[in-house]
Amino acid sequence: MINLNDLTFDELEREISAIGEPKFRAGQIFKWFSRGVFDFSQMSDLSATLREKLSRDYTLAGADIKEKFSSKIDGTVKYLLGLNDGNVIESVAMSYKHGISVCISTQVGCAMGCGFCASTIGGRARNLTTGEILAQVSVVQKDFGERVSNIVLMGIGEPLDNFDNVIRFLKNINHPKGMNIGYRHISLSTCGVVDKIYELAKENLPITLSVSLHAPDNETRGKIMPINKKYPIEELIEACNFYLKATGRRITFEYILIDGVNDSPRHADKLARLIGGMLCHVNLIPANFVPESGLSKSDRKTVLAFRERLEQRKINVTIRRELGSDIEASCGQLRQKAQRAGEQ
Ligand code: SAH
Repeated sequence: MINLNDLTFDELEREISAIGEPKFRAGQIFKWFSRGVFDFSQMSDLSATLREKLSRDYTLAGADIKEKFSSKIDGTVKYLLGLNDGNVIESVAMSYKHGISVCISTQVGCAMGCGFCASTIGGRARNLTTGEILAQVSVVQKDFGERVSNIVLMGIGEPLDNFDNVIRFLKNINHPKGMNIGYRHISLSTCGVVDKIYELAKENLPITLSVSLHAPDNETRGKIMPINKKYPIEELIEACNFYLKATGRRITFEYILIDGVNDSPRHADKLARLIGGMLCHVNLIPANFVPESGLSKSDRKTVLAFRERLEQRKINVTIRRELGSDIEASCGQLRQKAQRAGEQ
């Protein structure tokens, strides 16, 4: 049986027509997915007969709130969501002046192996489906009771390692009959899957590309990010330039500052040389490390000095606000904990 919410809107229309229903029913059903409803019996604007028929012939990929943690410091809420097959993922809602921003997962686990990241411990179990990616947004919106204005694909998983489902999700979330969230309000973060960056550029969706750079040279980057062996920095920067040209969208480079690894003045100088002149922005991240990584974060003085050095070299740079530090909001931490608890 297929999950009806894994279809794109056009596919849904075709499916609904194929079962002899008028096309506008597709719009009604699609709307329920935006409202966080993944149970045909709750779709009150459909006839009882149709609801029964749909429940018999189709399934829906939902995401149930299993646990919820609210930060007392800044109102950030972290959700542990359960999928139909029992897997769990994480989504985070951050409250800003203009509305809420939701950070969503794209895979159960991750295959990329970055040395500092909790999501990759244990590898990738599977890709999320199109419907599961969207369900996170609508379930969180429903629970929060506030409109989602921004989405970041920065939770568990590598979005470009689940390319097709991510593109289908983007088209659905942007659809006027769905949540209708503008591409300009969506950011996708990648560890640097170069061939997929070219493919993404060709899709011509004006989303913001965030690149987890974390080091300015192959030697340093290779130590913490295995992807760098497949796609070295020069190729990554070339792909970023291609993306920039194709979309005209400014790129964000994420840079976690790790004590003694990538945070020296020499690293700052190399970074400035690498990206100087590009239409980009550097987001310095005072990292949240899990005990498993054996890494620790740079101290505040080093973070400020790194920023200043970049600024002096005319690089656009900010230090990311640390949200939800009291609820382990850094990606993958909760799922890890839930798994550890399950094993005990
Ligand atoms: N796979 C994608 C998206 C998920 S990770 C990517 O690599 O970009 C989202 C961001 O969180 C990335 O920049 C990632 O490097 C960063 N991140 C991972 N572990 C972190 C940690 N312990 N502290 C701070 N940021 C972390």
